[in-house]
Amino acid sequence: PTDLDVERVRADFPILQTMVDGKPLVYLDNAASSQMPQPVMDRLARYQSTEHANIHRAVHTLSERATAAYEAARVTLQRFINAPDEREVIFTSGTTEAINLVMHGYGRKFIKAGDEIILTTLEHHSNIVPWQMLAEETGAIIRVLPINDAGELCMDQFEPLFNARTRLVGVSHVSNALGSINPVKQMIALAHSHGVPVLVDGAQAVPHLPVDVQDLDCDFYAFSGHKLCGPTGIGVLYGKAALLEKMQPFKGGGDMILSVSFEKTVYNTIPHKFEAGTPPIAAAIGLGAAVDYLSSLGMDAIARHEHALLQYATGLLGELPGLRLIGTARHKAAVLSFTLDGIHPHDVGTLLNQDGIAVRTGHHCAQPVMTRFKVPATTRASFAFYNSMAEVDALIAGIRSVRQVFA
Ligand code: PMP
Repeated sequence: PTDLDVERVRADFPILQTMVDGKPLVYLDNAASSQMPQPVMDRLARYQSTEHANIHRAVHTLSERATAAYEAARVTLQRFINAPDEREVIFTSGTTEAINLVMHGYGRKFIKAGDEIILTTLEHHSNIVPWQMLAEETGAIIRVLPINDAGELCMDQFEPLFNARTRLVGVSHVSNALGSINPVKQMIALAHSHGVPVLVDGAQAVPHLPVDVQDLDCDFYAFSGHKLCGPTGIGVLYGKAALLEKMQPFKGGGDMILSVSFEKTVYNTIPHKFEAGTPPIAAAIGLGAAVDYLSSLGMDAIARHEHALLQYATGLLGELPGLRLIGTARHKAAVLSFTLDGIHPHDVGTLLNQDGIAVRTGHHCAQPVMTRFKVPATTRASFAFYNSMAEVDALIAGIRSVRQVFA
């Protein structure tokens, strides 16, 4: 038992009542996307039925309501990650766009041929590919911090990667493929001692742990709304104001300018400089509501509950013959990536689905992690605070019956 009332929480999520082939849904694909509670849906409906118009443009009542709601969501997000200033919270379409914004806005301006970027083996493709594109364009060099057999970063090899040409460190706070929680605070302090800024990919951290960007002292922090019980199509880039002000805009268009003529365009102040065009207004407001919902439960309580699920599930998985758990970091979020001897993960996922159990199978957009462990793919069960111990039991029973099918 944990201090989260799971049955009460589950009642807030209509989709958790879904039946799959006559079996109750056991949703364990939260690292891909989490589900939306009723209060967020209610907030979206209220916005669409009483507040919707375009923002930052008109003096009419609806435009003022929509603008106020959108900007209030920005302040909610600011508080959620303890950013010092609401101008440091930029709405993007998600983590991917947030990282691409840093690549275009910071990287293309400040990273030149021969400069170096440090990434890690644990990165999601969205924190690899943009930097490779930049490297190809500029002649910059990517260096990679490796991981050990537990799926932890080899921290003793971090400092030697720095030199006078190092310009940026990009690191995930929590690995989506393995669940490892990386020592980002320590890494940021070390990078700063070399005068190097750090971009943290927080897509898998923000839904599961309390995150304080001032305590971390990160320069950029990116995350997605849809993994945080919010809508798709919305995410956040936090950036330190001094850096954001120096950066070039990523997209040009309406709302990101102060004045435009064919001779000269003057860009708007942050955050608007980075929010060209009509933003996903409804989605931002929905994300604000999602963060209010999570805060009402408490991120500490969420983290404790998920940790209890992880411990319980890890213990039971360890008893299953032929199961190899990939990722055994000492500090882990509630992600279980595994292989079953002789059974392809795709078959595991398909058979589990017949029992109503939703897991992800594949390379999890983290192919370097798969290569490191010499597996083409894994089955991944990833938990959220609305998962119960009974659902862990269902997963274990499901895996046992997969093994029987192949016995
Ligand atoms: N980084 C990590 C660690 C992720 O888990 C994900 C989503 N799987 C992303 C980045 C990309 O997020 P999005 O697809 O929402 O842009």
